[in-house]
Amino acid sequence: MRILILGGTSEASALARALAGRTDLRPELSLAGRTRSPAPPPIAYRIGGFGGADGLARHLAAGGFHAVVDATHPFAETMSRNAAEACAALALPLVAFTRPPWAAGPGDRWTTVASAEEAADALGRKPRSVFLTVGRLSLPAFAVAPQHRYLVRTIDRPDGIDALPDHKLILARGPFEAKAEAALMREEGIEVLVSKDSGGAATRPKLDAARELGIPVVIIRRPAPPDVPVLHELESVLAWIEAHRP
Ligand code: NAP
Repeated sequence: MRILILGGTSEASALARALAGRTDLRPELSLAGRTRSPAPPPIAYRIGGFGGADGLARHLAAGGFHAVVDATHPFAETMSRNAAEACAALALPLVAFTRPPWAAGPGDRWTTVASAEEAADALGRKPRSVFLTVGRLSLPAFAVAPQHRYLVRTIDRPDGIDALPDHKLILARGPFEAKAEAALMREEGIEVLVSKDSGGAATRPKLDAARELGIPVVIIRRPAPPDVPVLHELESVLAWIEAHRP
């Protein structure tokens, strides 16, 4: 059996670790190539786009793959759509492996929006001190709101960040801790946090810190996923793979 894992997330890395050495599955991990120095995966891998759904279908057919695990980020909308299209065309089983979305609890002051553009708009006209944790590819949407002071946190150095005239950049990768997140927000005088609804434990502490400090949060809702089964636990994905042996 051959499995293709669409990656770029900690879920994909965990699955790759779990499948390392499984010569019966001959897994391949596919990365988009956005992270500048990714840690070398423990299984066979390839880097870069396929050339749309057709290109992915060609890759799947040429490689003799039997099933696909879409473990891309919940905001990787195009890749997930292409995976659904390519697998439907080849009648290959496909499952999404992702973290559940976050949910607001008592004391949370969340405004939910549909896009980074809407998030920039939701910050309002009055200058505010904003903690921007939306990932470097979504930063350009905030250029329309240059009146705010931005504390920007990304994994890799973003291009074109000078479009935000008043910014401070922190390069860091989770997991983060609520205590340190609260200290950072206090020190930086943060008045509002902006985040995607990425889900998962590694970056959740910023939301807990915001609640503790009474700071409002603008949350960018996930794009609607294609109609494929979704699993949240590694064990369930391993069982799904076993169940789809040809
Ligand atoms: P996207 O908009 O859905 O995808 C754009 C294009 O990038 C796809 O059409 C595909 O090119 C290529 N691509 C994406 N994921 C790929 C993969 N795993 N393997 C090979 N090609 C891939 O994706 P994105 O939002 O730019 O995200 C890119 C990568 O970063 C993904 O792997 C995702 O898991 C990861 N990531 C994204 C976010 C986020 O907030 N969007 C956050 C953390 C990590 P072709 O059409 O040429 O095949």
